[in-house]
Amino acid sequence: MEFRIAPDPVEKLIQLGDATAFEPAGDAPHQELPARPPGCFVPGARPAPSKGLEALRQSISTVSTPRGPKPILKTMMTTACERDCHYCPFRAGRSRTRRITFRPDELAQGFLRLARAGLVEGIFLSSGIIGGGVRAQDKILDTAEILRGRHGYRGYIHLKLMPGAEYDQVRRAMELADRVSINLEGATEARLRALAPGKRFWEELLQRLLWVDRIRRTEGIRASVVTQFVVGAVGDTDLELLHISERLYRQAGLSRVYYSPFSPVLQTPLEDRPRVDPKRAHRLYQASFLLRDYGWSVEDLGFGPDQNLRLDVDPKQAWADLHLREAPVEVNTADREQLLRVPGIGPKTVERILAARRGGRITELGQLRALGMRDPQRAAPYILLDGRRPAHQMSLFAGVPRP
Ligand code: SF4
Repeated sequence: MEFRIAPDPVEKLIQLGDATAFEPAGDAPHQELPARPPGCFVPGARPAPSKGLEALRQSISTVSTPRGPKPILKTMMTTACERDCHYCPFRAGRSRTRRITFRPDELAQGFLRLARAGLVEGIFLSSGIIGGGVRAQDKILDTAEILRGRHGYRGYIHLKLMPGAEYDQVRRAMELADRVSINLEGATEARLRALAPGKRFWEELLQRLLWVDRIRRTEGIRASVVTQFVVGAVGDTDLELLHISERLYRQAGLSRVYYSPFSPVLQTPLEDRPRVDPKRAHRLYQASFLLRDYGWSVEDLGFGPDQNLRLDVDPKQAWADLHLREAPVEVNTADREQLLRVPGIGPKTVERILAARRGGRITELGQLRALGMRDPQRAAPYILLDGRRPAHQMSLFAGVPRP
């Protein structure tokens, strides 16, 4: 008779390593991404062997959660998958992928050991799909139930919603988690088809995001919701990505849209496509925040003939160069919306400026600095202070032809 010893769950987590490297989960996604996601092909580069705790560290990210920055274990129920998404290292049939599967109690146990050792303060739980999205979702929910119910775990939980998850599963995930997410991957149905032919844009994905919004509004369950797009693999444009992002912020109450610059993975149908410049994702985030926090609409953003944002300048400055250099904003009389158009002035600074104006006029850049503005020089070319361009700006432009 053969006796088999079940592998230690922490050992399995270590073996899993940075499986979710493609999936940012917090407020600083560029800091979460390791230099090279799993299976990513970098010509000339050799994979660095990572062992033991070092490998485990790769799956722990400091994530900005609604409860503050926390070390979060990002992991998966299984790296096996029956789907064949064209960009994914876990797609069915990819022989290079090591398949590791947890039972819910096993994963809960492994996570709790790390939490009790003070290594992590939360979990981001995703999964490959075996036996359909509903079954995969059940395993994720079972794990969260064990953590919350059996062990009374009150820390941060972020759960992925699987394609095709049922309404009651979405609802239960929202009750158990602080945050849920479902990745749309493509900005439109056609883009998703090129990335992941087996996924259905509306029936499996977008509809679930709208369910989350409905459940929040009708049942008062407060879990936040985020999504992610794969950027630049199949000809998608920034205009498309930002159009749908704006709709998601306005109509589905999303907290955050993530943009993951495409990295080719060996032994996938997209392995020959070029790696996307991370700066493109950076510009998308800047534009996305203008849509979410500054009251901008997509029409306000400037796109090139290829319908992409400029890489060389941030979108707010690009707008200001075009509209405010010749018509600067008077800081002492402008309304909130006008002030938010000025580079370097964000929502918090606007509130402070409006409050300070009640006590007297703002005449110097130094007063803006005293109000907490990190770099008033950025705003200088686009504002008037009591009818005058700030002195520094005048010297900046002395002798320089104006655009
Ligand atoms: S369903 Fe998820 S894990 Fe499976 S191939 Fe697609 S992206 Fe990868």
